[in-house]
Amino acid sequence: VIPERLEVYRYKLALLEHVRVGHDTRTSHPGLLVCVVDEHGRRGWGDIAPLMGYSSETLPEAEDVLKATWPRLLGLRLPDDGTCIQAVQLALAAAPASVRFGFETALAGIAAQAQDVPLYRLWQGTAPSTLPIAGLLQGPLESVVPEALRLKETGFVAVKLKVGAATPAEDAARVREVSLALGPSVELRLDANRAWSLADAVRFGELVQGVPLAFIEEPVAQPLDIPEFHGKSGLNVALDETLGEGPFEDWIQLAGIAAVVIKPTVLGGIVAAGRVAEAARRTGLRIIVSSAYESGVGLMALGHIAAALGTEGTAAGLGTYRWIDGDVVSPKPPLDQPMWRLDRLSMQQFRVDRGMMLDV
Ligand SMILES: [Mg+2]
Repeated sequence: VIPERLEVYRYKLALLEHVRVGHDTRTSHPGLLVCVVDEHGRRGWGDIAPLMGYSSETLPEAEDVLKATWPRLLGLRLPDDGTCIQAVQLALAAAPASVRFGFETALAGIAAQAQDVPLYRLWQGTAPSTLPIAGLLQGPLESVVPEALRLKETGFVAVKLKVGAATPAEDAARVREVSLALGPSVELRLDANRAWSLADAVRFGELVQGVPLAFIEEPVAQPLDIPEFHGKSGLNVALDETLGEGPFEDWIQLAGIAAVVIKPTVLGGIVAAGRVAEAARRTGLRIIVSSAYESGVGLMALGHIAAALGTEGTAAGLGTYRWIDGDVVSPKPPLDQPMWRLDRLSMQQFRVDRGMMLDV
């Protein structure tokens, strides 16, 4: 594979309802699509969509770096298998996470065409081609309970509910109602996005005693409070934001950690995500590959990465598509479904809708 040409497009997707990201509310998510064309005319697509409040780079910064990075990739002779992304690490060394993710995805997409396999098979020859997805629930009690019932009826085996925007008592009441709606057959996960002090988080933990919960992501503002939270509440904790701050090898050893939520767009692409997944696997943690409101281009790639890196049988955290209005590809891929067929989710099966986009 020799990258010979680059196309870049700008897009902006509206979010269906006001989506909370950390402490802020978002109504849209802008991003860039890159298309790398190799010497045989094969096209590989990547999505570069840093999420404000999560990513350390802004979109304009990502755009500047992607233009500066392309000359380092241009003309490189790369392996036409899964190692092509290792081969570009030096060229991508100065690039922020979202840019790495976009370029790695584009190049891996070309290698998958060269090998004539679905993307995930570049790295994982034995994983099944179906991937269970966790539904994503957010919003007030009146809307989350009917939505929880809908997700259950649609066949979701896991659901994640966002908490932390209300008081611990109000959130605990929502959690109880959603748990009752889902019943024992659907795994319930929570995500507090660091909203609580240790005292509030412990209070919440007391109020949800007896509710079957898989884990709660980032319950406290200070990650060093996690062991005490776990000790007092008994709840298992998953790391998300914390993985991007300092040495993840140390964070995953904290008492109470049961899972890692890996966002390749935020953590630095496929190779960086693979390093976190490998360390988590050695520590016996569940691995949940997760999205950050990317377009269908990024989300499809994340499905393949989840199959390659995730804990088999664990629903991937890719339930963000239902919160996005429209897409940059058509026909609209079935990414709001509870089970993805990865062999049907390659960019060759979709058209990029250029009417949605501006050339850069
Ligand atoms: Mg999270």
